[in-house]
Amino acid sequence: MIPVQDLSLHIEGNVRENAPLAPYSTFRIGGAAKFFVEPTTISDVIRTQEFARDHALPFFILGNGSNVLISDEGWDGIVMNLETGFNKLTFESDVITAEAGVKMATFVDFSIRHKRKGVEMLAGIPATIGGAVWMNAGCYGGETSDHLIDVQLVRDGKYISLPKSDCGFQYRHSGFRKSDIILSARFGMSEGDPQELREIKIKLLKHRNEVQPVNIPNCGSVFKNPKPRFSAELIEAEGLKGTRIGGAEISNMHANFIVNVNKASAQDVISLMNLARKKVFESTGIVLEPEVQLIGFKKNPILPLP
Ligand SMILES: Cc1cc2nc3c(=O)[nH]c(=O)nc-3n(C[C@H](O)[C@H](O)[C@H](O)COP(=O)(O)OP(=O)(O)OC[C@H]3O[C@@H](n4cnc5c(N)ncnc54)[C@H](O)[C@@H]3O)c2cc1C
Repeated sequence: MIPVQDLSLHIEGNVRENAPLAPYSTFRIGGAAKFFVEPTTISDVIRTQEFARDHALPFFILGNGSNVLISDEGWDGIVMNLETGFNKLTFESDVITAEAGVKMATFVDFSIRHKRKGVEMLAGIPATIGGAVWMNAGCYGGETSDHLIDVQLVRDGKYISLPKSDCGFQYRHSGFRKSDIILSARFGMSEGDPQELREIKIKLLKHRNEVQPVNIPNCGSVFKNPKPRFSAELIEAEGLKGTRIGGAEISNMHANFIVNVNKASAQDVISLMNLARKKVFESTGIVLEPEVQLIGFKKNPILPLP
């Protein structure tokens, strides 16, 4: 077995110990990872996952960190990030291949440049392709899986390709296994007019900027919508917009967003989440479920409702 301090000697990519994770989350919140690994080859990816298993270290893939709240204690294991080593885009025979670390905005621009239509509405999602495929992220009537052909991933230590029909896509959800590591995805879109596509993209980005606090660190929607109701509407009805705990605040612009206004801790965010859940439950009987993934918490910090 590789000694725990020797991980960096066994892979080509970069390994850092005790690496702060806050810069890797759009919330700018979270403690450090014991190991932060940026693989550059498929073999790096496989070896790192094996290493985690051999040393019983918890393992987590962090994309752009736009759907996570990382605990103040951080992650006592390995965090893998693919943005440095897996960030290529290619266009061949009308198919776009995007590696997992490519940012959604870059992918959309690339698609438009190659006259491909169907993903222009996704430009404002601050995801990597890996995270967007994993979550089947979407907005404005489109979702990541719409034009997807297949996904390349590491499963059980092997590199495989899964056709879209085997990926279990549903609304904001996929059927990948927890231990799967997505490395790339291939997309087939029909031809469109770049000028028109650019205009659609800009219009929708403008709309997003008007309704979401995009300039203050946040993690997107905090709670799932309890259909047919909207979490934002329920939280706003409790008069909670602008409520602040520590450095975190329920956004004045959109009540289902919590913003990090002044060096918020993860605990500040959790306290606001628990407050919103309690108030909404007491008034309506509706239970708000977190949309954001809670990472590195020793026990579930979300308080049970009576
Ligand atoms: C301002 C803002 C607006 C947003 N708007 C939208 C929106 O309109 N629509 C929408 O759907 N979402 C939205 N989100 C949420 C978020 O962008 C999406 O959920 C996105 O898919 C997360 O991608 P990520 O790369 O940041 O993944 P992360 O947040 O880093 O990770 C999310 C999950 O994906 C897994 N994952 C990431 N990469 C891989 C990989 N390569 N292999 C395996 N698993 C992986 C992680 O382990 C984790 O479980 C928004 C977020 C913000 C902050």
